[in-house]
Amino acid sequence: MQKSGYVFERLFVLVIAAVFMCPVVHMTAFAGDISTELEAPPIPPSEQYVYHNYSFMKDVMYEIEFQFPEITKIYDIGDAWEKTQGIADRDILAMKISDNVLVDEDEPEVLILALHHAREWVNHEIAIEFIRNITSAYGNNTRLSWLVDNREIWIVPMVNPDGLDYSLEFDSAWRKNRRLNYDNISYGVDLNRNYNGSENGDALGAWGGAGTSDDPTSDIYCGEYAFSEPETQAIRDLAYAHDFQVELDFHSSGDWVMWPWGYSANLTPDDDSLVAIGNRLAAINGYTAAQSFDMYATTGDSLDWLYGGPRVYPFLFETGSVFQPDRAVEVWAIIDENMPAIWEGIEIAGDRDLKAFDISHTPLLTRPYSASGFPIDAVVTAERGVDTGAVSVTYRVDGGPWSTLPTDRPGDNDTYEAVIPSQSAGSFVEYYIVAHDLSGVEKMSPLYAPYDIHSFTVTAVSGPPVADAGVDQESLLGETIYFDGLGSTDDVGVVNYTWTFVYDGVTQTLYGPTPEFTFMIDGVYDVALTVLDGEGSQDSDSMVVTVSSVPIPEFGAFAMAMSVVALAMFVSGSAIFRRRRRGV
Ligand SMILES: [Zn+2]
Repeated sequence: MQKSGYVFERLFVLVIAAVFMCPVVHMTAFAGDISTELEAPPIPPSEQYVYHNYSFMKDVMYEIEFQFPEITKIYDIGDAWEKTQGIADRDILAMKISDNVLVDEDEPEVLILALHHAREWVNHEIAIEFIRNITSAYGNNTRLSWLVDNREIWIVPMVNPDGLDYSLEFDSAWRKNRRLNYDNISYGVDLNRNYNGSENGDALGAWGGAGTSDDPTSDIYCGEYAFSEPETQAIRDLAYAHDFQVELDFHSSGDWVMWPWGYSANLTPDDDSLVAIGNRLAAINGYTAAQSFDMYATTGDSLDWLYGGPRVYPFLFETGSVFQPDRAVEVWAIIDENMPAIWEGIEIAGDRDLKAFDISHTPLLTRPYSASGFPIDAVVTAERGVDTGAVSVTYRVDGGPWSTLPTDRPGDNDTYEAVIPSQSAGSFVEYYIVAHDLSGVEKMSPLYAPYDIHSFTVTAVSGPPVADAGVDQESLLGETIYFDGLGSTDDVGVVNYTWTFVYDGVTQTLYGPTPEFTFMIDGVYDVALTVLDGEGSQDSDSMVVTVSSVPIPEFGAFAMAMSVVALAMFVSGSAIFRRRRRGV
């Protein structure tokens, strides 16, 4: 959790900006939306409000989708009730967050819902901040980046946008949606009593029972029939269109984490898993874990239906101690305490039954050079059994492309081995291990690979070579130069000689201890020799070749001979001159 503090620090500026923008957003966004159904003019919100309305949430979502198109996509999954009547324009907006976001990949899916109940204002703030947090952390934070890559996260930050805007502007105690009920007087259905029941998995069971009312003026009015409301229909259709493993549902208040059933004290068939996950989430946010029924009996809520219908493992968070904590600092404390619990819930979706699955591997920081490569051993065990053909090692060298190797089981036991091919001394090798159990659950070592990674540096066993490029040489145009690198030494033998120099604007490369080259352009050439030993250790040396277009004068017999010739030419030349003058 150390890194979360860093993320929040960076988001602090955004927070401050959002807090100060908020009243302005409210005033401008509401005038057109709700005034049609009001007799009295809207009352401006209190200055201390930090809460954001539907319009603000929508702006934030589209801004983030624009900023992070690779990992976010907004889906309009239905209209809120007032839009179905043409009296407002609020949609039920969902955002998918994942890598390859436009593709439905084979990754565990998670659903996050917030704000079924209009007055529980802190909860869409949690959802919005979660979206901001995980998108801005992508590529910066190890765990959050891994979650984006390995999960498909769906968030509906505002299940009840009509109700929220009404609650923010006119009646802070408002809980339901804004349907005009059949009595033509009262408004609103309690959306979290309008799901179908799912008594013991019976899709028609227990709607409109305990914890509900059929009085349309009641705060817990369950509607005329299950899924009568466009808001709950949108969530129902989304849930059936996907394979959500885990759902997190944000309400207020009381600091609880709850799981089904809510209609009965009976335990679900998956009670062990629900209790284990509920306890784990509650340990993170510091809330109290309980079966929903132990709080109060309810029927027709999302918790029971998501479990009984599409078989999601749902968890309801009752955040904070009041519906509307009135100071920014309290809201942010609630967001802060719940963010790591959300991350944990998303991670748990990878194996919601929390079966034991371990990859035990001891990484080494250095490995001596080996011509036969580097064995990577791991002990892999899984409660459901290891898919023995699906354990692999993925590696790369010096930041190059990734390659994946299958593993063997040399002892026919739990130890799996792959051999990374030999690499030269000084190479930096990064790798991670991936395993699957027999139910298809994936496990990595390190846990959040490749954002976390095992690595080693290949060290030399013998000493490095010493290059010797030989002495500087001089030549005339057209003469052949014989290079001499035979003075180079190594304790296990030089295996490669590479000579380079720039000739006519192009780098020439020659190989071998004694290559030759004929220079047809004069000049001074800097020649570099690099030698490699059998481990890939290397050394370099250089020499200079000077190529001249004219003979080089020397003091000696040649110079003397030239002087004699010049003197003779001078003498005979004078004679000719004299002869010519005489002739004139
Ligand atoms: Zn609620």
